[in-house]
Amino acid sequence: MKVVERKPEMRELAAGWRAAGRRVGLVPTMGALHEGHLSLVRAATGECDATVVSIFVNPTQFAPGEDFEQYPRTLEADEAACDKLGVEAVFAPSADEMYGAAAETYVGQDRLTTILEGAARPTHFRGVLTVVLKLFHIVGPHAAYFGRKDYQQAVVIRRMVADLDVPVEIRVCPTVREPGGLALSSRNNYLRPEERRRATCLFDALCRAERLFEEGERDPGALQRAMRERLGAETGVQVDYAVITDGADLTTPDTARAGDVALVAARVGETRLIDNIVLGEGK
Ligand code: AMP
Repeated sequence: MKVVERKPEMRELAAGWRAAGRRVGLVPTMGALHEGHLSLVRAATGECDATVVSIFVNPTQFAPGEDFEQYPRTLEADEAACDKLGVEAVFAPSADEMYGAAAETYVGQDRLTTILEGAARPTHFRGVLTVVLKLFHIVGPHAAYFGRKDYQQAVVIRRMVADLDVPVEIRVCPTVREPGGLALSSRNNYLRPEERRRATCLFDALCRAERLFEEGERDPGALQRAMRERLGAETGVQVDYAVITDGADLTTPDTARAGDVALVAARVGETRLIDNIVLGEGK
């Protein structure tokens, strides 16, 4: 497995694979790889001939005061995990290599990046979209793999790819969870043991909405109230949002339908967590 730090080398390597007729897969990550990330890597290596995992803690998607500095960095272990899964190259550029000092161009998107996570983190998605588009240009993958765990992120990326005619297939993989239901996340490392236990209330709340939906409840307001009630019952948990939206464009439906998504965000102690499930699928 190659570890590549420079953009020209990455570009050349991937161009060679494409020229040889190999299907190229890309898994963008910020590292500190866990089973959630590795499930994307397995999906990519299963469907592609050459898989690139990018590991880049992207400064432009963190606002001042967020956790950019304390974000876990475990490059050596990440490389070993990728190697074991048959990854062809890890792309791990420095921030200088990725952006350069003169950079001043960003990818903007309107409504979708101003709601939910975008309301809480106003500059987050422009950082995400910019780095993802750059990675698409550098690697030129046939397919790119994202987790359903970050549901809105997958939606805004699909929107960008459609709007800007980017020739890449977006694949979205199921959320990997701990046995108690907590979605795996690098930010779970910030939780104290007691907070970790409390954090399962996010998945509990989503399951409650799913159960009500399965029992026939179709009023989005009633489903939202049930989620808030469950989250509100947990001490030390502050709800940011608990909503039902259309699964494709994140608008609010009049009536809940299968394929709509239940999305929650809450602060557990100091740590902000997000999770979701798709109604009618329970995952
Ligand atoms: P991150 O390193 O947090 O930027 O995540 C990189 C990719 O892994 C994103 O597409 C995430 O949605 C995905 N991911 C993170 N956690 C999980 C999880 N628990 N299950 C599935 N995918 C995940």
